[in-house]
Amino acid sequence: MAKERTYATTEDEVEEHRRLQRLLGGKRIAERRIDFALRCHKNTRGEHLNFKYRPYQVSAYADPAPDIVWRVPVQIGKTEWEVCDTLAAASLGLAVFCVQPKFELRAVHVAERYDKMILNSPEYQEYQGPKGRDSTTLKHFGRGTLRFVGSRVESDMIAFPADVLAIDELDRCDLTILELAEDRLQESDYQIMRRTSTPTIAGSSTQRNIDYFFQLSDQKHWYIPCPTCGKEQELKWDKHLVMLNRDEEGRITDASLLDPTWTEGKWERTNQRIKLPCIRCGNPLDRLAKGHWQAHRPEIKGRSGYTMSRMVAVTTQIEKLWLAFEKALGNPIAMQRIINSFFGEPYSGIGDRLSEELLEEAIHVMPPPGYVAPCAPVGITSMGIDVNRPYFDVWISDYPVVSRGRIIRRCIYAGKVLKEGDLYDLVNEYRVSLAVIDAEPEVRLSLRFQDTAPCEVWRARYEHTEGLYTKDLVPNEKTGIIACDRTNTLDALIQSFFRNNVALPNNYMELCHGKMKAELLDSVRVLEEQSGVERYIWKGSNSHALHACNYDYMAFRMGGFAPASLPTTINVAKMLGANVSGTRRLLNEYDAINESPGLSLQKLRPFSAF
Ligand SMILES: [Zn+2]
Repeated sequence: MAKERTYATTEDEVEEHRRLQRLLGGKRIAERRIDFALRCHKNTRGEHLNFKYRPYQVSAYADPAPDIVWRVPVQIGKTEWEVCDTLAAASLGLAVFCVQPKFELRAVHVAERYDKMILNSPEYQEYQGPKGRDSTTLKHFGRGTLRFVGSRVESDMIAFPADVLAIDELDRCDLTILELAEDRLQESDYQIMRRTSTPTIAGSSTQRNIDYFFQLSDQKHWYIPCPTCGKEQELKWDKHLVMLNRDEEGRITDASLLDPTWTEGKWERTNQRIKLPCIRCGNPLDRLAKGHWQAHRPEIKGRSGYTMSRMVAVTTQIEKLWLAFEKALGNPIAMQRIINSFFGEPYSGIGDRLSEELLEEAIHVMPPPGYVAPCAPVGITSMGIDVNRPYFDVWISDYPVVSRGRIIRRCIYAGKVLKEGDLYDLVNEYRVSLAVIDAEPEVRLSLRFQDTAPCEVWRARYEHTEGLYTKDLVPNEKTGIIACDRTNTLDALIQSFFRNNVALPNNYMELCHGKMKAELLDSVRVLEEQSGVERYIWKGSNSHALHACNYDYMAFRMGGFAPASLPTTINVAKMLGANVSGTRRLLNEYDAINESPGLSLQKLRPFSAF
């Protein structure tokens, strides 16, 4: 006679029970979320949610999946959804674990998002527990709780069992510590997962970022129909807005609008919009047309993923997107910000580097042909020094000419010197007004130079700054140190070459027997892992000339002569401390020097001690 079992014992049965509980949990949260969205929720301005202008949000609010991934640009309503979703879960009696990238942002996050939204809604207030029990880390709502933690605090990740794990801005979290957070769900029957973020770079099994989880989901994209031919399509920046031209190495050399009739001037005068052509028939699309979500992997069940571009948002101005895109061309980090936060896609600009063609172009930026290094300075000069014993790599520039609305950083000296005293000689001979020197590895030497050199000196220290959205140069008046993000500053430098804002002398390729050129080309932008997070860095084995050039570029920027702020002759005059006619005089002097290049060179030292 077979033994009769009176309780569920097999692992399969437990598994099945959990699977059903999980589906049920997801469904209940969805029902409550929709109810909250339609009846209770008001945004921070006290307005009800309006799905009419955000039709793509409807599915996400009604989505019963226990595991939801948002890989989306900024400002498309992700935050509202998160608040609605987590409050719905808590109101049902679940324990919700809300992870923020940074511990310090938590109080602001709770006050700005949760407290304000609850205050705005009498319906939400009914769910609120007795006051005094709540804190910035714990909030009671209905029968459930919300706990707020920072992704970088390992101790926060343990000792609190949860039913829902909601991770905000996943790509800015510490991905290694975050894996501990997933353990919080182990005891729960529900195991509800929410991951939302603006993407950064492509995901992989070693880089479990938002793109990674989106790839594992059913991958829903927002499709709109063409009003002419009916073709359903997803709005993509590289299919509907921009045409990219690339060189053999795959580097973007240029971009143009797919709508050839649009110009910025016309837009300002007549408010003419950029047209987005249909990929099949070429007729203009209506980006706000009634669309739908289409899953690229509908066979995936249980993990629902959303991605979209801000091009379909009613609040977006396509013209501004394009202008920002155009401005970022050639600067990998600026381009990454745009691709990530406007178009909601991960960035893959791997292999960005200076090319020989870019250097050739820099040589031809400034006629006349008599321009060889070293040459005598005209007006103000800046200097960059990379400490690389036994040598010092030095780059000196002046700014004699403004060409077609941009200022040109003209290299008048590039080389290697052996003695510390040589640096002082160069400052004097080139009448350097602002120098930037590597603060490390020789701290005392750089301090000495800062104290005694007859010009303004800043010491630069490469520091890793978090995220993409930080400043790349942070000067500290007290210490005389500029903290700078290595990747960001080098990105900006490369863009200055790309924009033809650098002039190299005709003999640049041969300087130091070709060594200067080789060192400028040596670094490549690659992905590397640092403390569990992959990021782009410039990697090279011998790049001293590049860094000297970068320090000189910092000196240029520290002097307040940034290209954007200095497009006109008037500004150059300001920079030179002269009036406009004075600048014209300097420009004439420059011409005179170049007509007889031998003249000034006799006074100067031999090019390089190398
Ligand atoms: Zn069409």
